Amino acid sequence: MEHIRRYQAELTAWRRDFHAHLEAGFEEHRTSALVAERLAAWGIEVHRGIGGTGVVGVLRSGRGNLAVGLRADTDALEMPEANDFPYRSTIPGKMHGCGHDGHTTMLLGAARYLAETKNFDGIVHFIFQPAEEGQGGAQAMVADGLFERFPCDSVYGLHNQPGMAVGHYGIRAGAMMAGCGFFDLDIHGRGGHGARPESTVNPVVCGAAVVSAFQSIVARNVAPNDTAVVSVTGFTAGTAYNVIPERVSLRGTVRAFRTGTMQLVEERMRALATSIASGFGATAELAFREVTVPVVNGAAQTALIADAAAAMVGEAHVDRQRIPAMGSEDFSYMLAERPGAYILVGNGTGEAGGCEVHNPRYDLNDAAIPYGAGILAAVVEKELPRG
Ligand SMILES: [Zn+2]
Ligand SMILES: [Zn+2]
Repeated sequence: MEHIRRYQAELTAWRRDFHAHLEAGFEEHRTSALVAERLAAWGIEVHRGIGGTGVVGVLRSGRGNLAVGLRADTDALEMPEANDFPYRSTIPGKMHGCGHDGHTTMLLGAARYLAETKNFDGIVHFIFQPAEEGQGGAQAMVADGLFERFPCDSVYGLHNQPGMAVGHYGIRAGAMMAGCGFFDLDIHGRGGHGARPESTVNPVVCGAAVVSAFQSIVARNVAPNDTAVVSVTGFTAGTAYNVIPERVSLRGTVRAFRTGTMQLVEERMRALATSIASGFGATAELAFREVTVPVVNGAAQTALIADAAAAMVGEAHVDRQRIPAMGSEDFSYMLAERPGAYILVGNGTGEAGGCEVHNPRYDLNDAAIPYGAGILAAVVEKELPRG
């Protein structure tokens, strides 16, 4: 980390440049070009256009054939920024609101360190992934042959964590972040005059009953020692005071740590919606789609990266039993292909880094960059020791 700290001024400047000149999912052309240019300058072999705007750098040292993948996400969010510092977003309605500008910079810092020191024996694949924010960037890279073209024996990723002090890490073996599903539910009734309910089937009343019934799924169908979330977040119905509409549309999200639980929730939603609708004389159609699978950390890789973190900052600053989060992350699709681990890196507390991600006042804490770069580099030296 002391070596990486020498680059701190430069890394901070790059991070702020990414922050100001951000790009949303699958539009990361400038970001990818800068990443590619820097990797090449350090003698790293560069491959572009993997899964759209993805970039992979390949660095070899020694004769070993074991390979480690290190992944960072590069995209910004479609949300306005409320900060007014000099490097705030230059693009209205878009913001690096999740710190992926920092993750990109951290992986660049690790790449530079590893290219300079080469204190490992094997192959490192630096994976710069586009479109993490719900647009399928990880799946796109995997589908584009990421692990066939760049075989990895293990993969590692990280995310900054507001509310956790800089220099602290959090991780757990097994399920670390939930899988995510989105649903749309259409209920068709029979429209008519608001004053003549007897000649209609009001889909608003039916929809309200369905929303209430959905609240029983987590309470009554999911086992108490398992976890899930069912949130109805949208309910679109008629537009006039005196017209009972033909149909209503509901939407929302489901989170769960196990694929089986996600399937159970979907089955219960479909059964409740169709049977309640039929009781009301209406019909219901549920469309359910997987957005991400759960992030599941391998036990060996979790121990390895936690040990590497403890060697840098001390055991007291590494939470190895981090409580799993109901949020989701598409690195899960890489972890589904290869063993690996995903670690949280403290972004700070209070004024210095404590603002939640996806908040218009969020900013990545530059003081956290060496801890992110350092842990990625340390994993390589531990996975691929020399001699
Ligand atoms: Zn995010
Ligand atoms: Zn993020």
